[in-house]
Amino acid sequence: MRGGVPVSGEHTSRYGGNTACIEVRCGDTLIILDGGSGLINLGSSLLQELGIKPLDAHLFLTHTHWDHIMGLPYFLPAFKHTGKMTIYGVAGMDETLMSFFQGAEVGEYFPVTMGKPTVDVKFQELREVTRVGEASISYYYLNHPGLTIGFRVEYQGKSLVYIPDNEPYSSSNRALVKENDDNSFLARIDREIVHFSRGADILIADAAYTDEEYVEFVGSGHSSVTDALKVAMSAQAKRLVLFHHQPLRTGDEIEQLVVKCQERVDALGGKLEILSPAEGDQIEI
Ligand SMILES: [Zn+2]
Repeated sequence: MRGGVPVSGEHTSRYGGNTACIEVRCGDTLIILDGGSGLINLGSSLLQELGIKPLDAHLFLTHTHWDHIMGLPYFLPAFKHTGKMTIYGVAGMDETLMSFFQGAEVGEYFPVTMGKPTVDVKFQELREVTRVGEASISYYYLNHPGLTIGFRVEYQGKSLVYIPDNEPYSSSNRALVKENDDNSFLARIDREIVHFSRGADILIADAAYTDEEYVEFVGSGHSSVTDALKVAMSAQAKRLVLFHHQPLRTGDEIEQLVVKCQERVDALGGKLEILSPAEGDQIEI
């Protein structure tokens, strides 16, 4: 649920302290969105679930910032089990990631080199729409330092949109981007992201900063809670998951954010439901 760096401690444990990792099940198909430190716990639960069955995981990465990949060297099924793992990203991502698996550069950043994976690891460049089992995954570019994308997963008429690291241009470039009928390039990208999120049953969106905090972090590549609300309401998403919490955001603060956001939606007569699940929670769509 968090961004930046994993944390532990009594104030942050209620919602969990790990960085970005979402497990999505579409029938028997296992899709994983990002490989932050949450991937470590997912790995151990998968090992228990699999028994002697081989792994077949499809890992989609939004970008290679460490809070989205740091779980990879500790994803035990890849280094202890049989089966295969396909990693999807945009062009060029595979070189960075291969170094994790080959152990070439990993020693610079991690205390252990993991050796070779025991599962078959394959990198696949994303297509406009990637089919995995019966699920279709599309992507769109986000406003975040480096090349970053978000994903839309569609399965049996249901949709989940994941835009974990994004700052709308109408917030980061306020002088340039006017809202509403602005037809500039940047304003159009903002609208494309809303279009990409259109009607999502669940929108998991960057809500890194409170509005008060955001003033100090304009241009950082992350959203305020208001930005997340705007995208969700403009896109007429059904549920919004506030995501990528600040490492030290306490359980009480997260609860208050959810209540405040819900009040704002209700005051506007919207139907959007605001959620902030705790780590390990399951949501059925
Ligand atoms: Zn991040």
